[in-house]
Order: sequence, then C-alpha cells, then structure tokens
Amino acid sequence: MVEKRVDAEDGQAYTYEDMCAYYKGQYKKAAMNAYWETCRVAGKKGAAKAKVKAKAKAKVKASAAAKTAKPKGQFKVVVCGGAGGIGQPLALLMAMNPAVGELSVQDLTVAMVPPAGVAADLGHIERPAKVTGFAIDVSLPAKDQMKECLEGAHLVLVPAGMPRKPGMTRDDLFNTNAGIAKGLVEACSIHCPEAILGLIVNPVNSVVPAMATLYEKKGLDPLKVIGVTTLDCVRANKFVATATGKPVSATRIPVVGGHAGKTILPLFSQDRFGKTLTEEQIKELDPRTQDAGTEVVDAKGGKGSATLSMAYAGAKFANAILAGLGGKATTECAYLKSPVGGEDCPFFTSKIRFGKKGVDKIHDIGTLNEHETTRLVEVKAQLKDEINKGLEYAKDKDLAKE
Ligand code: NAD
Repeated sequence: MVEKRVDAEDGQAYTYEDMCAYYKGQYKKAAMNAYWETCRVAGKKGAAKAKVKAKAKAKVKASAAAKTAKPKGQFKVVVCGGAGGIGQPLALLMAMNPAVGELSVQDLTVAMVPPAGVAADLGHIERPAKVTGFAIDVSLPAKDQMKECLEGAHLVLVPAGMPRKPGMTRDDLFNTNAGIAKGLVEACSIHCPEAILGLIVNPVNSVVPAMATLYEKKGLDPLKVIGVTTLDCVRANKFVATATGKPVSATRIPVVGGHAGKTILPLFSQDRFGKTLTEEQIKELDPRTQDAGTEVVDAKGGKGSATLSMAYAGAKFANAILAGLGGKATTECAYLKSPVGGEDCPFFTSKIRFGKKGVDKIHDIGTLNEHETTRLVEVKAQLKDEINKGLEYAKDKDLAKE
C-alpha cells in the first residue's frame, strides 16, 4: 500500500505524489522533501480522497487566476531615494521584475550619485522596464517637481531618508525623516493617489501612522500607506532555517507587532519548522531577530546599515504587491492601520493578503504560545507610544490640495 502522511496544514493524509502536486510551484523539490519528512505517517484513506479533490480544485483555481493575469511589463514603480544605499539595489531588483514596464528612480539634486546616472545604468538591463531618473531640489516642495515622476504609478517605494547616525536620538531621526516622507507622500497624494506607498524610511512605527493619517485627513485611503517590515520576516526565516537545518525556502515565520526593537515579535510557533525550536533556541533567536540591524551596523564598522538585505526585502514586498495587483493574491507581513493591535495600537504588523486593489485582507495574529503572549504585552506597551508620536505629528498638519 502506498504510504500516506498527514499534512499539518489541514490534518489530512496524502501520498507523496498528491502532496507534490498540491505544493507544485510553491516549494522546490528539496523543500518539498524536507516538508514530507516532517509529516506524520497516516493511514486514513477516506480523508485523503476528499482532500485530493479539494486540492485539485484549488489547483484549477490557481491556474485560472494565472491565465487571467495581466500581461508582463504593465506596472509603473517609483523608488524615492533611488540613488541611496537601499535605493540603488532596490531599483535594480525592481528593474529586473518582468511585471515592471516603467521605473522612476527619484532622489535629490545633491545625491551622492545623480539619479539620472542610476537610471542610465539600469536602463541597459535586458528587461522590459524603461528607467528614468528624476532629481528634485530639496529647497522646493516635492509636489511641484514630481508630476512626471509619479503620474501613472502603481507602487511607490520610499527608502528616502536618513539612516540613524551615532549620537542621533530617535526623536531627531523621526523629525528629519517625517519631514522628508511628508513631502513625498504629499506629492503622491496629488499625482498618484491610487498608488500603493511602501514606506521603508525609519522609524516606521511612527512615520507610517503619521503619513496614513495625513492621507486619511485628505479623504484618501489610509491603507494605501504601508510600512515595509518584510526584512524582519526575511531575517527570522534565515535564522530558523539555519538553526533547524531545514530549507529556508520553505520556512515562513510571521513577524507581527511593529518594526523596532521589542515591538518586533516573531511567531515561531506558527511555522512548521519554527515550532520545533527548543526553548533555548527561542531565547536566542527572538532577541536576535529584534536586534539583527545592529549586527549589520557593527559588521560594517558603523559605516552603513542594512542596505542589500533591505533591498531584497523591499523587492519581496513589492513583488507581493505587484502580484496582487496583477490578479494573484499574495500574502506578506506588513505594518498598517489595523484593528489587530486593539484600541491602544491602531497600527500593527500582521499577515496581509494583497489583491487587485492592494490590501485585501488583514489577518489576525492567530494562536500564540505562552512566550509569545507575554511578549505581545511588551510589544503593545512600546508600540503604543511610537504610534502616538506619529499621530501627534499629523494632528496639526495637512497635505496640500494641489
Ligand atoms: P542613504 O542615506 O544611503 O540613502 C537615502 C537616500 O535618500 C539618499 O540618496 C538621499 O539623497 C535620499 N533623500 C533624502 N531626502 C530625499 C527626498 N526628499 N527625496 C528623495 N530622496 C531623498 O540611506 P539608506 O541606508 O538607503 O536608508 C534609507 C532609510 O531606510 C533610512 O531611514 C533607514 O533608517 C531606513 N531603513 C529601513 C529599513 C526597514 O526595514 N524598513 C531597513 C534599513 C534601513
């Protein structure tokens, strides 16, 4: 008799072939084999048959969705701060995405490298994207200089802003970067109000509530303004895969809460490999995920922060948004206006499904174990103040009408 094993995702039994057929395109062979090895051997025939049918249906649905997807090169993406440490590799990764037909690389006239140079460089890549550079004068309003850059954009990624320098307080960083973000968000509210804005600029925990509230005050959808926290998931996935010896491509740790220090909460218990970590490993990997940025700053001798891994994570986020807009709903963790954090934390990171119009579904955080429940209290205590700082900033400000 052919062996069947129980898929922990739904508790049903399948043959190896059934399981491979279902997960085809989602997991590579090595990841699939590793997953199979984690599944308990079972023998219930009836349940397996029913499930195979359900899965076959899901497959048909998936291929139907793929067939209705829009043609390649249909999206316009803008990278603000595109000549910076994150901006350049992020622009490269966006130029490589075949769904991107137009890419604007925007930065300041005083940037280290002229954005037109970055655009000329990327313009030689064998991909459909037409790449154009735009430089703005920092002494003039961004909105008056960015019409061409932004018009028709579907997605605007914002790694424009200062990284935290030694001696700089969190307040200094917030005031500087909120000012930069406000100018760019204001320009988007005028020239591409339907676009999704992915804010990478720190401190995300405060900048996103400030900018989403300004959008809402102007009568626009606050869910268009999204904080990019993908790097936390990327790091947690890598750390868990390394600790367990399992394939990183099949590791998916949701990281919820916020995007700074203790507000970063990896939910190891919700991943098939993460849930096998020992208490000792959790004690090491939870704080490591929170402080992973410092590892990079220290290794770069204080001469830079995470730029390449951030660009990778930013592109992962962008690819999820573009896949959703193109008709293939895709889920990633992100920080946005949300009911999930309760009254005290009206902005929260959880799993978000992105669809044809952007945010399609905000998932709840699911079941937590004891450690995660304790940590969630800590998350909310810190996040609440950081959100309030953003809301306070937006209180007496408005985005210009035109
Ligand atoms: P960087 O200094 O190398 O690049 C920033 C770029 O922004 C520069 O080219 C600068 O000229 C440009 N810029 C400044 N004001 C601008 C404006 N008004 N319009 C357009 N461009 C403008 O910094 P970096 O290392 O690329 O970091 C950028 C931001 O990303 C920082 O705030 C950093 O803290 C943040 N960051 C976020 C994450 C995350 O996970 N969300 C991770 C790492 C860094």
